[in-house]
Amino acid sequence: MTEERAKQKMNDRSIGRYVGRLAPSPTGALHLGNVRTFMIAWLRARSLGGKLIMRIEDLDHPRDKPGAAKEAIEDLKWLGFDWDEFYIQSERKEFYRDALEKLRSKGLVYPCICSRRDVEAAQSAPHEGEQLFYSGTCRGRYTTWAQACRELQMRGQSSRLPCWRFKVDAPSIVEFDDVFAGRCVYDVSSSFGDFPIARDEGAAGYTLAVVVDDSAMGVTEIVRGDDLLSATPQQILLRRSLDLGDVSYLHVPLAVGKDGRRLAKRHGDTRIKSYREMGVKSQALIGLIASSCGWAQEGENITLADLLPRFDLSTIPHNPWVVDKLGNFVTPSTREAPLA
Ligand code: GLU
Repeated sequence: MTEERAKQKMNDRSIGRYVGRLAPSPTGALHLGNVRTFMIAWLRARSLGGKLIMRIEDLDHPRDKPGAAKEAIEDLKWLGFDWDEFYIQSERKEFYRDALEKLRSKGLVYPCICSRRDVEAAQSAPHEGEQLFYSGTCRGRYTTWAQACRELQMRGQSSRLPCWRFKVDAPSIVEFDDVFAGRCVYDVSSSFGDFPIARDEGAAGYTLAVVVDDSAMGVTEIVRGDDLLSATPQQILLRRSLDLGDVSYLHVPLAVGKDGRRLAKRHGDTRIKSYREMGVKSQALIGLIASSCGWAQEGENITLADLLPRFDLSTIPHNPWVVDKLGNFVTPSTREAPLA
C-alpha cells in the first residue's frame, strides 16, 4: 500500500467513518440467502458514504471448496457489488497467531483434548444450533500444549490434536444493543462455557480470526445473518481480552425454505451461478431480493446502485424470508432478451 493510501486509511478511521465488510466463507456457492445479507451490508455502508471490506474467510478446512471464493466474487461483481479493500484470511495467519500468543501469555486459554467434533468446531463459524456447551473437562489439566499431546499419545490417539479453549468466567454476562435485533443479553458461561478458538498449536479458527480482522481492518459495524447472533457474545469477550474496543452489530433474519430451515440445496437450486447460466438478468435477482426487504415491487428489475435511495432498515421484516415460490421465477421478463 502506498504511503498516501495508508494515510488516507488512518484518516478514514480516525474521523470515525463507517467501515463495513462482506465476509463470505467459500464452503459452497452463493445463493439468494447469502446475497440478501450482503445486499443489506452493501447498502448500509454505501448509503452512509462508508467503506467496504471484502474478506474471504477460508480457514474452515476441510469444508472450504476449491474455486468457491473465485466464483463468489464473480457472482457478486455480476450483481453489481464492489468493495474498497480485499483480504484472504489464509494469508493472515501470523496475525491470528500473535493474538493467540497474547491470550496465552495472559493465561486466558488452555489446551483441550476433548473430542474431534469439539476440536473441529474451532474452525467454523458457529451458525445457530451448531454451538456446543463445554463443561470445562480439560481446564486446569495441562499446563502446556506438549503435555496435552502426550496425554493423547498415551491414550493411543496420537492422530488427534488438542485445541485451544478460551476460559469463560462464571458468570460472564454480555449485553449489547444490536441495531436490528435490539437488546441482547447472554451469559456465555452457562450457554457455551469455555469455547474453542484454535485448532492445532497455532491455527486460529473463525471466532479468533474474525475478531482480529474486524479490528485490524477498522470495521465499525458488522452486518450479518442472525444465525451468528449467538456467536457474538464470545466475540465480544475476545475483543475485550485483546483490548480491541467496541464495534456495532446488525444481525438480519435469514432466508429459509418452506420448512423454516436455513436456505440450502435441499430447498432447490437458488445459486446465483445457476440463474446466471439460465440467462436471468442481475436486475431481476436484485429486484427479487429487494422486494423481500420492502424496497421494490414484486417482479421489478432494478440495479443495486438504484436501490441506494430506497434503502431503509425499518422495512426489513423481522421474520425470516421464506423462499418458497421460485418455481416460475425464470420467465421472459427476468431473462436477458435473446440475441436477434
Ligand atoms: N464467514 C462467515 C460465514 O459465512 C460469516 C462471518 C461473519 O460475518 O462474522 O458463515
